[in-house]
Amino acid sequence: AKRRGRHTFRAFDKTLNDHLGMRNQIESQLRLALDHGELWLAFQPKVSLRERRIVGAEALLRWRSPQFGEVSPTDFIPHAENSGEIVRIGAWVVKEACRQLREWRDQGLELDHIAVNVSFRQLLSGTFSDSVQAALQVHDLPGNALELEMTERILIDEAPDTLDTFTALKRMGVRLTIDDFGEGYSSFNYLRHLPIDSVKISHTFMQGIPVQPADTAICEAIVRIAESLGLTVVAEGVETEEQLAFLERIGTDDAQGFFFSRPIEAARLPVFMQEWNRSGRG
Ligand code: C2E
Ligand code: CA
Ligand code: CA
Repeated sequence: AKRRGRHTFRAFDKTLNDHLGMRNQIESQLRLALDHGELWLAFQPKVSLRERRIVGAEALLRWRSPQFGEVSPTDFIPHAENSGEIVRIGAWVVKEACRQLREWRDQGLELDHIAVNVSFRQLLSGTFSDSVQAALQVHDLPGNALELEMTERILIDEAPDTLDTFTALKRMGVRLTIDDFGEGYSSFNYLRHLPIDSVKISHTFMQGIPVQPADTAICEAIVRIAESLGLTVVAEGVETEEQLAFLERIGTDDAQGFFFSRPIEAARLPVFMQEWNRSGRG
């Protein structure tokens, strides 16, 4: 038993080292990624279900790493949060999204806003609202051209500090959205206190629609709550015609998902919008 125990310990030790080695490698590569131009933004169109119009797009971060290849944000963002690099990267995302929207508007593209995901670490940094204001100013955009998506986690942690940041952002006219709504802490209390404009129904509820009673009931409840609080409801992860029909029936405002479009390169968005309008969907 003793020998096996030692062996087990060694094996554990080795995997732990590999793991830490990998983590350090990712974190050090990530520090260079921004300066080396390895980060870019994909955009997923957001559709207004009532107007059948593309109202905006969500910016989704991508990392093309020479060492690791295409790395998914779900794999590298936790590392960026862990090392604190997310503060710098997140500021770049806001700036780049604003630059892109400015370019599209100058081309005559009618997009109400661009949505950007924000990590709790960014909000706690204390410089966040200033970096947002600077990005809007540099690209001559009104606050309502920018929508910030954050998960419920942000709202639970460190509420007093983040409230000041929210207030500052609201004063600029920036739109605030709760992402993955219903997935996490299921406390609706913060909806009463925070200056939120919209909620995004988590894609996890989309999978069972329209057949799973629990999923349909949750979606309907979210739409009703949002309605009575005057919030916009967005559904994410919409993949099928049936899901779309259900969401329209219960009064969902906007939707995003593979059914309409996958996240695409910035250069393809104007083409997508042209085709959308031509096909009469708009
Ligand atoms: P999220 O904000 O919930 O973004 C939605 C994710 O679902 C995206 O994955 C998107 O590509 C994917 N998706 C969109 N439509 C569909 C669909 O119809 N079906 C399915 N199965 N998936 C769909 P992605 O791009 O891999 O991003 C994953 C997560 O990484 C995001 O989840 C967000 O939490 C985070 N993330 C992405 N970009 C940023 C960023 O700039 N900053 C921060 N802090 N987080 C980001
Ligand atoms: Ca999001
Ligand atoms: Ca989400």
